[in-house]
Amino acid sequence: MNTSCRYKRVLVKLSGEALMGDTRNAFDPRFLDGLVHELQTAHATGVQLALVVGGGNIYRGGLGHDQGPARSRGDHMGMLATVINSLAIQGGLEKIGLSSVVYTAIPMPQVAETFVLRHALDDLARGRILICAAGTGNPYFTTDTAASLRAAEMGADLLLKGTKVDGVYSDDPKTNHNAQRYDQLTFDQVLHQKLQVMDLTAISLCQANKIPIMVFSILERGVLTAILNGEQRGTLIKEAL
Ligand code: UDP
Repeated sequence: MNTSCRYKRVLVKLSGEALMGDTRNAFDPRFLDGLVHELQTAHATGVQLALVVGGGNIYRGGLGHDQGPARSRGDHMGMLATVINSLAIQGGLEKIGLSSVVYTAIPMPQVAETFVLRHALDDLARGRILICAAGTGNPYFTTDTAASLRAAEMGADLLLKGTKVDGVYSDDPKTNHNAQRYDQLTFDQVLHQKLQVMDLTAISLCQANKIPIMVFSILERGVLTAILNGEQRGTLIKEAL
């Protein structure tokens, strides 16, 4: 085991859309293969590794602006989508011999373990990769907020938010070639400038619990391990610069 990692425990948040890779299907097997190898090298640094995955490649609730029971139904569908994604990632990890546990925020014991913090911490200490599914278990939230919540509960040193771009920009880099990438930002800058990082609840939860966020490109090979080894990649968001 390599002990170069500067963090003890981190949580990685992946959007469901990332799993589509370059395809229009819910899953791109090539992306999944690449992802599990990234996780393998990251895990080999000795860090305790937890994951929260979204469901946007399959279903997102709330898009029809439904409210009340209809909204809850849609959100339940979204949370179930995250369970499908979590099982897919676990399958990939299993294929390369990495031990992982899927925990769900909504009990479904035939499918996965029900989230109990103490059990999750035991699994992390045993070197298992944790995959936290079904978001917070409640409608009206996002998996970004679930990631912040789990990171706070577990006492993670860093929340790594994997996206298709390599950090936070002043504008959309796809449409504005003059958009500038930030190396570092404060939570207040993100909140006041309404920068598209994570939803407000997720950002506020990280700020209140002093958990820095690193926004990085999940498409860049080796980046996760580079960050764990202390290299500056992506955009780091913290309390003060
Ligand atoms: N969701 C929810 N509560 C949660 C987390 C997620 O209701 O705590 C639902 C919500 O409908 C959301 C969907 O699950 O749209 C998928 O999650 P998200 O949109 O965060 O996935 P991502 O954009 O990261 O793929």
